[in-house]
Amino acid sequence: MEKYDVVIIGAGPCGLTAAIYALRSGLSVAIIEKNMIGGQTSLTYEVKNYPGFVSISGMELSTKMHEQATLLGAVTIYGEVKSINFSPMNNLIIVEDKEVFANTIILSMGARARTLGVNGESDFIGRGICYCAVCDGAIFKDQDVVLVGGGNSAVQDAIYLSNIAKSITIINNLPSFTCQKILLDELEKIMNNKHNININHNSMVKEFLGTDVLSAVKFVNDAGEEKTVNVSGAFIAIGREPDTELVRNTIHLDEHGYVAVDDNLETNQPGVFAGGDVRVKRLRQIVTACADGAIAATNANSFINQNK
Ligand SMILES: Cc1cc2nc3c(=O)[nH]c(=O)nc-3n(C[C@H](O)[C@H](O)[C@H](O)COP(=O)(O)OP(=O)(O)OC[C@H]3O[C@@H](n4cnc5c(N)ncnc54)[C@H](O)[C@@H]3O)c2cc1C
Repeated sequence: MEKYDVVIIGAGPCGLTAAIYALRSGLSVAIIEKNMIGGQTSLTYEVKNYPGFVSISGMELSTKMHEQATLLGAVTIYGEVKSINFSPMNNLIIVEDKEVFANTIILSMGARARTLGVNGESDFIGRGICYCAVCDGAIFKDQDVVLVGGGNSAVQDAIYLSNIAKSITIINNLPSFTCQKILLDELEKIMNNKHNININHNSMVKEFLGTDVLSAVKFVNDAGEEKTVNVSGAFIAIGREPDTELVRNTIHLDEHGYVAVDDNLETNQPGVFAGGDVRVKRLRQIVTACADGAIAATNANSFINQNK
């Protein structure tokens, strides 16, 4: 029987930090990851606000965290957690076709890209429509693309794509960008040197068009004027939603689907903790995900000591 003191679901910065703290407390740890080590951080081209690094690629930061956890003895299991049978000090976790038991669990499943839900979107996912500029930007070298959104992720994506795409048409539903000032300054600097970014505030996508692959995007502004731009790619960066489908019926969630926790980051299930982007909180960043991981692991250790 494969059993660990702590099983961590999701190898983003929260899960990886939780692993480091739990292992340093002498606990056995397995981290389960269905996709990429580092989670959303691995999708981030350049991280400039993680203390200790003026600038580091998200992939490199994630790799360093994973290496540290592995050196301390973390077991990484690749696969998707399909279900959990909660039972304090004897939880059963089903990963694909494998059973893993855990004294405690840390839920750090993070968040995934939100979709627009407009006509044509689902038809062209992977055929022109993308949700990660760092992952898929290179496909559209010297081509025209649309970028939907106006927050931090969208502006980061615009900065990244400005060196790759021939032109970027930004479609933002709000009257201005809502990103941090430092990102806006960077975007403005790029726009002064290059002239390949066209901004449309107060505008919304109406439809994605094409036959086999995306070929155009129709959008409308608040005056009701419709425009169609011919593009081969569209990047959608309109925020994230929590990846909590797995625990929808067993863990208390708020009205937006984020995990509810107490001050110890414990959920309604005893010995089950949650941290990072998956939980109810105000600031979803790498540094806050790491902080949550440290707190959750420390409290998992206390739970084990009280219940063994
Ligand atoms: C484009 C972009 C740019 C960003 N830039 C910055 C930045 O510059 N600075 C900053 O501080 N923050 C940035 N962020 C936010 C930051 O990346 C997140 O706050 C952080 O990664 C959250 O960490 P996490 O560990 O909570 O979750 P995540 O990073 O989302 O990781 C969760 C992991 O859980 C896995 N998982 C989910 N469900 C399951 C399951 N059932 N079974 C197994 N595995 C599962 C996922 O595959 C994922 O790898 C950015 C985010 C994006 C999208």
